[in-house]
Amino acid sequence: MTGSSRASSDRRSRYSGLSLLRHAVSGRPWPPAWRSHDLRAGYDVVIIGGGVHGLATAYYLARNHGITDVAVLDKGYLGGGGSGRNTAILRSNYLTPEGVRFYDRSLELYAGLAADLNFNVMFSRRGHLTLAHSDASLRTMRWRAEVNKVSGVDSEVIDAADVKRLVPHLDVTAGARYPILGGLHHPPGGIVRHDAVVWGYARAADSLGAHLHQDTEVTGIDVRAGRVRGVRTTRGDIAAPVVLNATAGWSTLVADLAGVRLPVQTFPLQAAVTEPVKPFLRTVVVSGSLHVYVSQTSRGELVFGASVDPFASYSTRGSLEFTEGLAGHVLQLMPSLAKLRLLRQWAGLCDMTPDFAPIMGHTDVEGFLVDVGWGTYGFKAGPVAGEAMADCIAHGRPPDLIAPFGLQRFAEGRLMGEKGAAAVGH
Ligand SMILES: Cc1cc2nc3c(=O)[nH]c(=O)nc-3n(C[C@H](O)[C@H](O)[C@H](O)COP(=O)(O)OP(=O)(O)OC[C@H]3O[C@@H](n4cnc5c(N)ncnc54)[C@H](O)[C@@H]3O)c2cc1C
Repeated sequence: MTGSSRASSDRRSRYSGLSLLRHAVSGRPWPPAWRSHDLRAGYDVVIIGGGVHGLATAYYLARNHGITDVAVLDKGYLGGGGSGRNTAILRSNYLTPEGVRFYDRSLELYAGLAADLNFNVMFSRRGHLTLAHSDASLRTMRWRAEVNKVSGVDSEVIDAADVKRLVPHLDVTAGARYPILGGLHHPPGGIVRHDAVVWGYARAADSLGAHLHQDTEVTGIDVRAGRVRGVRTTRGDIAAPVVLNATAGWSTLVADLAGVRLPVQTFPLQAAVTEPVKPFLRTVVVSGSLHVYVSQTSRGELVFGASVDPFASYSTRGSLEFTEGLAGHVLQLMPSLAKLRLLRQWAGLCDMTPDFAPIMGHTDVEGFLVDVGWGTYGFKAGPVAGEAMADCIAHGRPPDLIAPFGLQRFAEGRLMGEKGAAAVGH
């Protein structure tokens, strides 16, 4: 596809110290971050799903390829899926060379995202530490560190004394129930503000001409003679030669509408946050054996995550079993947190693939593309997946960076094998 309509000029009112001052003095209200539109009868590209992936794709379609006749449809509100529910941990220390290269490009995009979108996404590189509680995990970590280094990604196996130096609150004594033998330290890892990323992409995509339609559920996909023709929605039909499924936890339901089967199962993933306390934890700490991870936000809250619930479901209710298990595991790592109070817990949906790697690119239905299978790790990939899917739509074939992640790999038996670096949900 070529850019049928070049990107219109950037209509955003720029956010800056000066404009803040101007608005304060004049009392003039800020324009809405993005606009509402009537649904058009047709678009060049329809993106189903207004999470970070759908919105980033719309943004890069406009910015990199001049394709602006684009609609992003969401059945709820922008960021209401996994993109507004995740724990926003960023890293690129994966296990496969393809995964490492891919996620590293995302970190690169995240590092420049605030300037690119003119929106403070609160990107914070604070290091990421995965703990080893057994010789077997130390072995996998050495393997991971080597794969990372070959791809130019900073990752190092450290011993228990260095773990203690990095995170003094960890219990590294031999008497701990799960003794800490060392860890995989990944200094470029960090956190970001997930809402800001979603809103930043939405505002930027809108300003370049994309139409963002909230409360617009896709109820059917029109496929004739093996080709997608458009979508049916709760607000009317839309003709489109290209339709992208970026609906994560709902992706199999949406793919079914086009008659495409995906090797994806949906599981709930829960997380929780405590009351804010003084900053004491800079590094993101992960324990695969205890199925738990901890980070501290810039507001001081501790954010805890875990692995997916053990059964497939579309439920987004929290459970007491989760809270009990989580609290027990956190206290095994950091006994001094015993007096902290949990403020909230929540759940989101995760679209898990058998090889813990995403599915990106074309399907057997011409014009119907997927950007799915993001499981518990897809937020960090939003920028790179958006950039790559926009490229794929613009040029009609996947760029090299995402070619290994095609749907055909399951039929061809070329699975990615990323489980060793992606089993705990972040
Ligand atoms: C608790 C939790 C913690 C996580 N932690 C991390 C982490 O630390 N780091 C990380 O990288 N990832 C993490 N993840 C995973 C990450 O959140 C997701 O992989 C990512 O947000 C997926 O983004 P998306 O844009 O593909 O989908 P989503 O943000 O889920 O958006 C999909 C959208 O599709 C819409 N939709 C569905 N069906 C339809 C339809 N029929 N018509 C129209 N719209 C539809 C939904 O309303 C939704 O808004 C976590 C997930 C959870 C739940």
